[in-house]
Amino acid sequence: MNDTKRWHELAAKVKPETCLFIDGKFVDAVDSQRFTTFNPATGQPIAEMVRGNAADVDLAVKAARRAYKSGVWSRMAPRERMDILYRVARLIEDHADEFALLDCLDMGKSISELTGGDVPFSALTFQYFAETIDKIDGMVTNTDRSALHMIVREPLGVVACVTPWNYPLMMAAWKVAPALAAGNSVVLKPAEQTPTSALLLARIFAEAGVPDGVFNVVNGYGEDAGRALALHMDVDKISFTGSTEVGKLMMVYSGQSNMKKVTTECGGKSPQIIMGDADLDTAVTYAVNGIFTNQGEVCSAGSRLLVHESVYEEFVEKFAIEAQRFQPGDPLDPATTMGPLVTQEQQRKVLGYIDSAKSEGAKLVIGGGRPSGMDAGNYVQPTLFKDVKESMTIAREEIFGPVGAVIPFKTGEEAIAIANNSIYGLGSSIWTKDLNTAHRMARDIEAGLVWINCYEHGDMTQPWGGYKQSGQGRDKCFETMLAHMQTKSVWINLG
Ligand code: NAD
Repeated sequence: MNDTKRWHELAAKVKPETCLFIDGKFVDAVDSQRFTTFNPATGQPIAEMVRGNAADVDLAVKAARRAYKSGVWSRMAPRERMDILYRVARLIEDHADEFALLDCLDMGKSISELTGGDVPFSALTFQYFAETIDKIDGMVTNTDRSALHMIVREPLGVVACVTPWNYPLMMAAWKVAPALAAGNSVVLKPAEQTPTSALLLARIFAEAGVPDGVFNVVNGYGEDAGRALALHMDVDKISFTGSTEVGKLMMVYSGQSNMKKVTTECGGKSPQIIMGDADLDTAVTYAVNGIFTNQGEVCSAGSRLLVHESVYEEFVEKFAIEAQRFQPGDPLDPATTMGPLVTQEQQRKVLGYIDSAKSEGAKLVIGGGRPSGMDAGNYVQPTLFKDVKESMTIAREEIFGPVGAVIPFKTGEEAIAIANNSIYGLGSSIWTKDLNTAHRMARDIEAGLVWINCYEHGDMTQPWGGYKQSGQGRDKCFETMLAHMQTKSVWINLG
């Protein structure tokens, strides 16, 4: 049996869990509402999901608080908590096919990317944060001899994790793993476009021995379940990944409620600067991957390609050839390199940006519409525009689709000025063989992530997050653990 047939047969048997997960049980919503989740490759419904709203959020937060106060998790010995999270990592690996199928059917990304990327990286995220648990040290400071001053770290309490649809399982792992590792209880609100894999995660937590109430999932819409969670008076932190627009709302909700802590990982419009002396073939390969991987639905997508005038035409020609590696296709076929966009709405939005580029005078190099014969799914062709100006809409706004914009420049200073002319500051790259240029530009660029002669490289130690309106806070990395803990000063008077 070929692999595509095998994945289709497995997909036909998938029966996603549909209920909310509160206090260790799969439950219906208080008002029994439902919403439908669709397969973006076919337009067919996948499941009727239980739709939580404010009343369900309240039950989940109460369960999380009860569990937190009981100390079953928050005061568990570090080694025991580590062992349970290691088990979670192993169980994710054991259920790799199920996770991959759920996210493939819900979101449309290719099954190969899921089995080779999202799923093992999610397991690794739990492994990494488990490893940090007994590495959190307090401190005794150098005070006067009349006192003993200890700085200790404690969990925050109840953490609300609100996640996007572009990497459903992996974004949940990035948010939930550090929160749990730090000893908090969690309520997760997944994106309504991709609600299924979070519930398999819930089943796995129970199997691994995470006590009831420590991890809860409330599916539902952003404006009711998400908003209720972010406004809840008994939530201590919102850990958010999503759009800049909603990230800003999270900060407002915090101010309107109990001043809960907020960390946000938001959008981007990341520049890749290709200098005249760059290794052009390698730069082209990474540029193509940087904008077309995951259909361009990547926060750090290298969507602005700033190319030195001396290699500009050659870059565009090579890009057009290299881009043929990305062909829209069936996400369940392991050979597929590009799936459909997540929803019809997202497809319409991306096609709208393509129209704006055409009407504002950018020159279309490849793509520019829907692929023929694939009307059932939300497909968009891999698209490249050249002669893009900084002022054009496609150079300023996050498209979140497979649309690259090539902008020419004359000097390094000009390239940095264009790169920094953005409300965002998430990813960036510099392609040059000159060490001085690379270091100088890395200092000048306003971005949380700077890649030199590569793109999207990294590991769990890498602080992931942005400058400016790409958010405040970091994912992955040790610092993230500390962002899920309180700092307490204990001052002992020794007389
Ligand atoms: P989104 O902001 O629309 O939704 C994100 C989450 O917020 C969803 O769970 C949604 O239900 C919820 N939400 C929406 N409105 C809400 C409201 N009024 N109150 C409370 N919750 C609300 O984002 P999206 O479309 O799901 O994801 C795409 C965005 O995510 C892109 O901008 C992308 O750049 C960003 N993203 C950033 C990173 C990063 O690490 N910086 C990673 C992945 C995605």
